Amino acid sequence: MTPPAPADTPAPGAQHGGVIRKNLATLPVRPHWRADAPAPATFSWSSMRERLAGLPGGGLNIGFEALDRPVRQGRGEHVALHWLGANAGAGAERAGLAGLDERRITYDELRRLANRFASAITRLGLARGDRLFVLAPRLPELYVAILGALKAGVVVSPLFSAFGPEPIATRMNLGEGRALVTTPGLFARKVAPVRAQIPTLSHVLLIDDGSGPGPAGTHDLGALLREAGEAGENFECAATRPEDLALLHFTSGTTGRPKGAMHVHGAVVTHYATGLYALDLHPEDVFWCTADPGWVTGMSYGVIAPLLHGVTMIVDEAEFDPERWYRILQEHEVSVWYTAPTAIRMLMKAGIALAQRFVHPKLRFVASVGEPLNPEAVAWGLQALGLPIHDNWWQTETGGIMVANAPAFDIKPGSMGRPLPGVEAAIVERLAGGDVRLIDTPGTQGELALKRGWPSMFRGYLHEDERYRKCFAGEWYLTGDLVRRDADGHYWFVGRADDVIKSAGHLIGPFEVESVLMEHPAVVEAGVIGKPDALLGETVKAFVALRPGFEAGEALMRELMAHARKRLGAAVAPKEIAFAAALPHTRSGKIMRRLLKARELGLPEGDTSTMEGAA
Ligand code: AMP
Repeated sequence: MTPPAPADTPAPGAQHGGVIRKNLATLPVRPHWRADAPAPATFSWSSMRERLAGLPGGGLNIGFEALDRPVRQGRGEHVALHWLGANAGAGAERAGLAGLDERRITYDELRRLANRFASAITRLGLARGDRLFVLAPRLPELYVAILGALKAGVVVSPLFSAFGPEPIATRMNLGEGRALVTTPGLFARKVAPVRAQIPTLSHVLLIDDGSGPGPAGTHDLGALLREAGEAGENFECAATRPEDLALLHFTSGTTGRPKGAMHVHGAVVTHYATGLYALDLHPEDVFWCTADPGWVTGMSYGVIAPLLHGVTMIVDEAEFDPERWYRILQEHEVSVWYTAPTAIRMLMKAGIALAQRFVHPKLRFVASVGEPLNPEAVAWGLQALGLPIHDNWWQTETGGIMVANAPAFDIKPGSMGRPLPGVEAAIVERLAGGDVRLIDTPGTQGELALKRGWPSMFRGYLHEDERYRKCFAGEWYLTGDLVRRDADGHYWFVGRADDVIKSAGHLIGPFEVESVLMEHPAVVEAGVIGKPDALLGETVKAFVALRPGFEAGEALMRELMAHARKRLGAAVAPKEIAFAAALPHTRSGKIMRRLLKARELGLPEGDTSTMEGAA
């Protein structure tokens, strides 16, 4: 099956003002694929693979490609990681890596530190295939741990530091985490209360955050790195194969537990290729990906892809602050910036006057991912930064950017762009029996599907083969996103085909939130929906039905909010809770979230024939 060819009808982009044509006289952008990248027509994944170093005998290791390859290419003294501490300028000593609050770590230093980490965990007894979780702020040690573990052949699974104890324990148990790298503060607040529920967890490595020695049963990461010594710097990279598991990224579905999307070392070929084609990374670039490595974007593009291209990457420990962000872009001469729609909307909210206090002469490419990027945000980029913003699309399961407003294309504001070289996309309709029908009429809505074969495709959901199999119909991976394609081949995001919620870029599974609410003695049932929000995309709203004897009211609502926040963390907990006498169900007993949402938004209720009690 080949994807349908685009036919000739007006582009939906027209409704948003059509294509933004770059003004080449004023904008320092490249109007074509970079000169040293093969033209898309001659693109092949194997030619991308050949650009990487590889290991003897056909092996491949992400950590090796990210660190050893650039060093071998003579970039050892180039700054790999320019770290800005949350208190940058305060000059506080950090014992672990003996640095200041602003640190520049070269490729060779990072390689040596990662090697020390790899030897330290090997000495602790971690073996290839074991899982190491990371739960930390964006500190240099986080990057050392990720890259070191990858070099040791240990599988890395990142957690958001905004998660509460419940999501952490759930994911570590599903992933059978043997080791965890975190800080004493996060350990005390979020892991210690649930440690007994994670029986596989043998080693907790604490990053020194200045709060004093860690509790019994933990290791001091700084001490482990020192003990690894110079000998540890010669760690020999594990002989991983391209199909060996490298990363485990948890993502949320509509029902059931979070899903552990498994990614292999061979994914590095996609990271490399998309760094070329979607982000236009060049070795002289200063690149800033604002995503946290707790999220797949912060891993693929906040750690791996930039290092593969030998750039200097900015890592900012601090949370979002409009003025700080403009200052970073200006003072650190960021040339390529990869951020998210929620952040852009928050910058827009902070006002154009603030933006215009700063100049960004070196900035030449700005991209965004994670949620739909409003056309106004694309235009705002031109006004505030002198550059339009290039939206691109992908998801945890794809491991890398698939559809993009690449530098080589004109932007259609509001569109997610076109498939990158090596990516075959189509729009499909699911049929009974698990097959799909390709939809090739421009403008018709359907589910986005991608043809198997790109290197960073997830290789399974951990321990959930059936769930994995259901994501495929023949050669097509079904993304769960509803889209339209216009006559020019640009894709337009319509919405999710399921009930998952996207809030400030975080994918939130309603089931996980409902389960925690139902742990509260007052709650008999909960239904959770995403409510449109101009800033965050969506916010989490919960409807709860109470057990007899409990009274709906302000006090109980506050109690439920606090319960959810404590167990789930602020990023996942509902922002709003409403009491309901009863929740709508299907005949098979499932809560009809779609109906809750329609009622909340005053939309037509649609087909309610499957509803319990319906005629
Ligand atoms: P995650 O797996 O957490 O990265 O979330 C992936 C989901 O985010 C996708 O399936 C989409 O629903 C949404 N998403 C990602 N990028 C975009 C985009 N550029 N436009 C619209 N939605 C997006």
